[in-house]
Amino acid sequence: MAKTERLILIVEDEVRIAVLLQDYLHREGYLTHCVSNGLDAVPAVREKKPDLVLLDVMLPGRSGMDICREVRQFSRVPILMLTARVEEIDRLLGLELGADDYICKPFSPREVVARVKAVLRRTATDAVFPADDISIDEEKYRIRIRDKTLDTTVVEFQLFKILAGNPGQVWSRGQLMDKIYPDHRIVSERTIDSHVKKLRKKIAGVLPQRDIIHSVYGAGYKFEK
Ligand code: CA
Repeated sequence: MAKTERLILIVEDEVRIAVLLQDYLHREGYLTHCVSNGLDAVPAVREKKPDLVLLDVMLPGRSGMDICREVRQFSRVPILMLTARVEEIDRLLGLELGADDYICKPFSPREVVARVKAVLRRTATDAVFPADDISIDEEKYRIRIRDKTLDTTVVEFQLFKILAGNPGQVWSRGQLMDKIYPDHRIVSERTIDSHVKKLRKKIAGVLPQRDIIHSVYGAGYKFEK
């Protein structure tokens, strides 16, 4: 059972699926709100402030990808994309949209509930921050270093949180992948490298003389001031 009454926003135009998801989520103690038109999704996120969004990709009015992109400009609410098209998975996997996870249709409602729980668990993890000039705003999905804001993607934010939350600890690419993609989907190790590279570049923008994310040759990455 969910600990508190958390609200899941379901954006899905197929009534049968929406009702099925609702039933299963209610059984697990979640509250739900459904919208079926893409145009209603962003206003619903703003108004209802859900704890998680189940977002179908193919919708009347507006695509789920579009919606995801816009939501990420003002909220870091966890987003789980629902897709029936295998060829979309690559784009969703890149997470450039800022989605937290995806589920392929057809799915079992049980699986969806398990993913909802996993994503909520993952995004709720609190990290302890070691440095007084670094702060993390979980609400706004924002890292601030010396009063300057880093404009990060969701994956960069998570990477920073893991590394900075465990200073001095070396994380292998595999460990980082497990943390960020706990369902063990296939993501190349180079994906992690490229996210780290972008993150470092952003950090260098505010801390030009200092490296805080270090490569450890043959091992992985660590955070050290
Ligand atoms: Ca649809």
